Amino acid sequence: MNEIQFLENDPFAPIRYVYDVEEIICSRRTACQHLLIFRSRYFGRVLALDGVVQLTERDEHFYHEMLTQVALHAHPDPADVLIIGGGDGGSLREVLKHEAVKRVQLVELDGGVIEAAREFLPSLSSGFADPRAHVLVGRGEGFLASTADKFDLVVVDSTDPVGPAARLFTEECLAAAAAVLKDDGMLVAQTESLHFHADFIREVQRRLARFFRIVDLCTAPLSTYGGNWWTFSIGSRAYDPRVPRRPCTVSTRYYAEDVHRQAFLPGSLRRKLREG
Ligand code: SAM
Repeated sequence: MNEIQFLENDPFAPIRYVYDVEEIICSRRTACQHLLIFRSRYFGRVLALDGVVQLTERDEHFYHEMLTQVALHAHPDPADVLIIGGGDGGSLREVLKHEAVKRVQLVELDGGVIEAAREFLPSLSSGFADPRAHVLVGRGEGFLASTADKFDLVVVDSTDPVGPAARLFTEECLAAAAAVLKDDGMLVAQTESLHFHADFIREVQRRLARFFRIVDLCTAPLSTYGGNWWTFSIGSRAYDPRVPRRPCTVSTRYYAEDVHRQAFLPGSLRRKLREG
């Protein structure tokens, strides 16, 4: 068999993964980074940016559903949604499943990721054709600092918090994200692995607590990200994110009401995380 290997090079995780590669589908430099899409027998198409795997067709639904559907179901009327990053379209696809959503603004640093996703990852990027979707290529932190728009939900779907994504987790940027929310708005951000990045998660939770009445943490089991026990930090101005406020009528593969209720870190583990 004519097979090559892809060694993931994630500087943010103390582990390396090796993928078997059946076919290189796209390998190019965008304006911001190196973009690779290959096909692996088990994982299907895989997107890597600067050598770091961003998603696989096999397990992306665990990540994209849990990043978006928990907050979308905890909010009674998520009409206006902002996605920062998320150029592959997976979060956009999930958000647009809801009829309650009237407008989605996506702000992605790298237009090349959107282009490649539209061309090579159709199961993720279908939402870009939806008239409710509005795309801006630029830095999320710049948009947050300058927009006059108000949102019900902000979703931070970024790369690891090194390089350009690090700015999205500063106190200044989280304050700006809280400021673009309506009075009962929510923010959810992917915040890495509980195994490997507890210090980072603790710090983000502490920062969120400065700007949000309620701060919580839900998790999902991912096969492909270093550390696997993945976290999503939520800051909410009014609603308890643990409580689903609308029945799940959209089509999902992992998310469900009982998954929602069990996805949050139990009190004893939250205390341990808080105390270090
Ligand atoms: N699910 C993925 C993960 O955790 O590995 C993230 C996927 S998505 C491809 C991440 C996107 O965030 C990338 O396309 C990257 O260009 C974008 N990004 C990184 N920093 C950004 C910033 N400061 N503003 C806007 N987009 C950013």
